[in-house]
Amino acid sequence: MTNPLYDTLFGQHQGKSTTFLQLPDGTVITHDAFLQMAAQYANLLMELGVKPGDRVAVQIAKSPQALAVYAACAQAGIVFLPLNTAYTADEVSYFAENSGAQLILCDSNRFEALTPIAQACGAVLETMNADGSGTFTSRAHDMPVSFKTVDRSQDDLAAFLYTSGTTGRSKGAMLTQGNLLSNCEALTKEWRFTDKDALLHALPIFHTHGLFVATNISLLAGGKMLFMPKFDLDVMLDLMPQATTMMGVPTFYTRLLDDPRFTRELAQHMRLFISGSAPLLAETHTQFEARTGHRILERYGMTETNMNTSNPYDGERRAGTVGFPLPGVEVKITDSKTGKTLPQGEIGEIEVRGPNVFKGYWQMPEKTAEELREDGFFITGDLGRVDEDGYLHIVGRNKDLIISGGYNIYPKEIELLLDDEPGVLESAVIGVPHPDFGETVVGVLVADNQGDLDLESIKKNISGSLARFKHPQRLVVLPELPRNTMGKVQKKELREQFKDMFT
Ligand code: ATP
Ligand code: MG
Repeated sequence: MTNPLYDTLFGQHQGKSTTFLQLPDGTVITHDAFLQMAAQYANLLMELGVKPGDRVAVQIAKSPQALAVYAACAQAGIVFLPLNTAYTADEVSYFAENSGAQLILCDSNRFEALTPIAQACGAVLETMNADGSGTFTSRAHDMPVSFKTVDRSQDDLAAFLYTSGTTGRSKGAMLTQGNLLSNCEALTKEWRFTDKDALLHALPIFHTHGLFVATNISLLAGGKMLFMPKFDLDVMLDLMPQATTMMGVPTFYTRLLDDPRFTRELAQHMRLFISGSAPLLAETHTQFEARTGHRILERYGMTETNMNTSNPYDGERRAGTVGFPLPGVEVKITDSKTGKTLPQGEIGEIEVRGPNVFKGYWQMPEKTAEELREDGFFITGDLGRVDEDGYLHIVGRNKDLIISGGYNIYPKEIELLLDDEPGVLESAVIGVPHPDFGETVVGVLVADNQGDLDLESIKKNISGSLARFKHPQRLVVLPELPRNTMGKVQKKELREQFKDMFT
């Protein structure tokens, strides 16, 4: 095998007229048509002077063409670097410079703003728009529809994926062909994907969830994707009858549940619903089962590792947990200070090791050394515990841990109580600076549409279940929690907003 990633995921479909992508307007792109497009792009990349091992940064809308750039990079041995479409020109400048990208691909309406940035880092700038038009695609038009796949090994880099920046500045995770392949092989098997599957795909493709989990699995299994340019409830409900599976972030599921058109009948034929990227409330899990009869399968992963754990396909899918380690992946819970493994049931750092774990952060040797142990274990930055049956529970992020008067407080424990209070839709508990305690607890609440919240009685109700030092000093109400495109609550923003509350 000359190029494991390309040959396994893409090359196997050469010449096949089976459907790979089906767009909401009914347009079908076959596996072979997709590969021909990718080959044209690979030829063009070479002509533009991009060489194997170089980085191609793309900040473009989700489209079949955008996905074909990923395939082209794989075939040409180029490191694919997708960027969140919401990033500003300044932010793109950091990624372009940090990664040393040789080519930047952007939307036409960004061309002007990115021109000086591309010049500053010596990168070629080309455009690709949401409808597939642009300088890159028009040039590719005359390129040959076949390309001699560049030799690569499992250990060669396939992608730089920047983390979501929830806890600090985004870091470029170096992912090898082997990282990506081992993970999609494990997931395809665990979740029983086959060429009969049609995956409802409304996730962005600049993030590991929509790009590697969803796309790589579909390619490996040979199934098709119902490929939506973005999440749109009407379109999703429209397409569901044609789907067998769906992957989503928790907000997709809450939005579906909010809509009376999402009925048991509509979901009945579905084989599997998968959730990840942010915690799925146990309540959403329960409501979903009551509405549809399906138990959502929740899994846990991150940019640096792809997926680590998953609830079982056949066994009990336990709400509020992320299941068991995937085959080949080891998970341990350790003491943050000593790094020693903790007894079963105790809360500590989640560490993972396996063929899925990345090579390190690009040009951040210190950060890499801090988080990636010499024995191969990656310190995820998430806190969790394993219950008596082996299910992993995520308690929160280490950086969100509140230390008040020397005591550790896990926000999740308080959030679960707040969420159960009448009138509360959801909550986020944060630590804010306090002159006496160092930090103190603040609960941010979002009311459900029934109206006002009685904060005093909520405080009183939860106080009985919590040690005194965990009592929120203050509860505040916001119309909604700040979230990024992956549905992750941005606690950093909340801490910033309320940092002067007690000082
Ligand atoms: P950064 O590392 O830059 O702060 P980030 O960690 O949000 O950003 P990602 O790699 O996109 O960037 O997200 C991975 C994180 O998402 C995990 O470490 C975990 O905190 C969270 N996560 C993923 N799946 C789940 C899940 N099922 N339940 C709870 N949290 C999850
Ligand atoms: Mg992270």
